[in-house]
Amino acid sequence: MDKEPGSSLPQPTSPQGSPQLAASWARIRGRLRDEVGEVEYRTWLRQMTLAGIEGDEAIVLLPTRFLRDWVRGHYGERLRALWLSEVPGVRRVDIRVAAGMTDAGPEHGLGESLVPRAVEPARPSVPAAPATTGDRAGDWIAPLEPRFTFDTFVVGKPNEVAHACARRVSERPNSPGFNPLFLYGGVGLGKTHLMHAIAWGIRERGDLSVAYMSAEKFMYRFIAALRSQSTMEFKESLRSVDVLMIDDLQFLIGKDNTQEEFFHTFNALVDAGKQIVVSADKSPSDLSGIEDRLRTRLGWGMVADLHATTYELRLSIVEAKTSAAGVMVPPKVLELLAHKITSNVRELEGALNRLIAHANLFGRTVTMDSVQEVLADMLRAHEKRISIEEIQRKVSEHYNIRLTDMASPRRARNVARPRQVAMYLAKQLTQRSLPEIGRRFGNRDHTTVMHAVSRIAELMAADPSFAEDVALLRKMLET
Ligand code: ADP
Ligand code: MG
Repeated sequence: MDKEPGSSLPQPTSPQGSPQLAASWARIRGRLRDEVGEVEYRTWLRQMTLAGIEGDEAIVLLPTRFLRDWVRGHYGERLRALWLSEVPGVRRVDIRVAAGMTDAGPEHGLGESLVPRAVEPARPSVPAAPATTGDRAGDWIAPLEPRFTFDTFVVGKPNEVAHACARRVSERPNSPGFNPLFLYGGVGLGKTHLMHAIAWGIRERGDLSVAYMSAEKFMYRFIAALRSQSTMEFKESLRSVDVLMIDDLQFLIGKDNTQEEFFHTFNALVDAGKQIVVSADKSPSDLSGIEDRLRTRLGWGMVADLHATTYELRLSIVEAKTSAAGVMVPPKVLELLAHKITSNVRELEGALNRLIAHANLFGRTVTMDSVQEVLADMLRAHEKRISIEEIQRKVSEHYNIRLTDMASPRRARNVARPRQVAMYLAKQLTQRSLPEIGRRFGNRDHTTVMHAVSRIAELMAADPSFAEDVALLRKMLET
């Protein structure tokens, strides 16, 4: 960017070129996220990128047509309003599919006119603080998500211990050995869900007051109290609760003052026989940056972890969620999801929400084809990693040559051609560079690999049955 220093800011064009623009965009996304909630945001909006501003128009990109149409139909107007309030010069928003990312699906022609509000994933109405708690911890309490109850939590091997502990605390707060309850595990594995479930359970019985909040919120409240010199009220309101739940404690790492305050609150509550529940992304002993005395106290009660999901748990989760939503999804599709979307439950839910919305919108049942279309971007990201070894093995099996021939100097056609096919597939199916591929094929030069790639492409163009052969190999490797 050849911006002259000191000159008035030129019309911004791309977010890379303009920090202000990037900041505005970040704020717009943040506001949208607050408005629609985490789940909805992740399902539909997380993948938006800003291409830039052209005239009075902001250009927003999404990876697939389906997402583009959906975002246009549901959030287009809101995006426009947010843009206008951030950057008054921007009056229109153009939502497009990112170049090079067009999915194979048909055009749906789902325009602005079609705003299928009715099929939106039901948004929880934010519950008011329960009457029983009165004003004691009043505006402190973060709203609980109605979906996050024990009924909707699917139990499997990876979470059965954490679940049992959570239930126990919910049914009988402050049981010996369960205070504090410390739940930990990676992102999207159900910590927040379990914490809310505990809180709902306790509130249902109605006689105990529960304060649930993220550690971040705790920190902001504390800092605000310091500023307004109301730390006494802060302390009192917190110490008057029966159950204190702090989510994502790792946010307090390195925040010494807040940690100190939390430590004192913690001790005061435990001494008064109140229950504490804490979650974090790591176990107390692995939470570096937490003061030792706090760490020690955190480990006093029950420490339970949520392990990474297994295929079985993922399958049970998608089964439970589709049947709760009342949509018919063929078992094959559910298996595909459980098989492919392995990172965490949040991603899995996002995929499922999209499928359900798609099915409702187009009034048809979910099929293998619609999955490929609707989840193109997600499935791409979770594509199976294929190794050069695997390719060599499959190709030599297919052409009936020895695996060692892949790396041998032999140049006889019956060996050289399959070797070229393997090099071609290695280039297409892995992220390896040409020199790296060459090395794995008996230390050949990268120009040899290059030659193989173009030779095979030529042969495929000239000979359909050869092309079919290679396509078959490719398919076998990919699935
Ligand atoms: P964390 O707080 O560990 O990052 P969350 O509790 O927010 O994760 O879970 C992410 C999403 O996955 C939530 O929508 C939650 O309902 C869902 N989820 C996680 N684990 C389960 C489970 N075992 N059964 C049903 N839903 C789950
Ligand atoms: Mg959480």
